[in-house]
Amino acid sequence: MTEILYHTDSYLKEFEAEVSQVFPDMNALILDRTAFFPGGGGQSFDTGIIISDNQENRVKRAKTDPLGLLHFLEEGQPLPEISARVTGRINWERRYQIMRTHTAMHILCGVIFRDYGALVTGCDMDPLKGRMDFEFESLTGDLVAVIEKSVNAEVDAAREVKVRVFPREEAFKIPDLIRTKINLLPPHIQQVRTIEIVGLDLQADGGTHVNNTSEVGPIRIPDYKSKGKINKRIYVELSA
Ligand SMILES: [Zn+2]
Repeated sequence: MTEILYHTDSYLKEFEAEVSQVFPDMNALILDRTAFFPGGGGQSFDTGIIISDNQENRVKRAKTDPLGLLHFLEEGQPLPEISARVTGRINWERRYQIMRTHTAMHILCGVIFRDYGALVTGCDMDPLKGRMDFEFESLTGDLVAVIEKSVNAEVDAAREVKVRVFPREEAFKIPDLIRTKINLLPPHIQQVRTIEIVGLDLQADGGTHVNNTSEVGPIRIPDYKSKGKINKRIYVELSA
């Protein structure tokens, strides 16, 4: 099992690790520990480099697979060998933009649940932009303008963002987590990681976030759209 370093430190940009498995046919490898996020929960995977013996291999993507957390390397360089000591370095510019975007999405869903009681039905993100679907009956331009103002007030409030890991049984007792449907978690998942925007939002979540809502910066809602009678989509954009 790979030790997942981003679970407890989202700001880790570089780390030392050992190669535990290599897959020459896929040009991929598994490390004993990693800070590369493999994608999931609407958040995109990390890219970066893995350095061994002064040789740099570009990581095209990281991905969770039944085999483990795979790092896919660019073709053209020899793969590091099993047991080799390597340095991993993630593409921080991309990752930090994604962390800010992911936190912006939590601000949006926290505000919409607090002010309108509407639940999220779907979510997708790229660096600096994303979209979220809500169980909302009617959404108008005026209402979207109010929502935009409210989410930016939460950025300005500089709320702390806390990461915690609970044993599964304990997590099930937290009433606010019910709306993120932790009861759908597969039984083999014994630990539940939570992301709390203090005073606004609490969710079970495996992704990476910033430590304070002020790091997100101004949030724009450039567009919205109806996706059905009780399903409305809201688009979000951040500044570079
Ligand atoms: Zn999330």
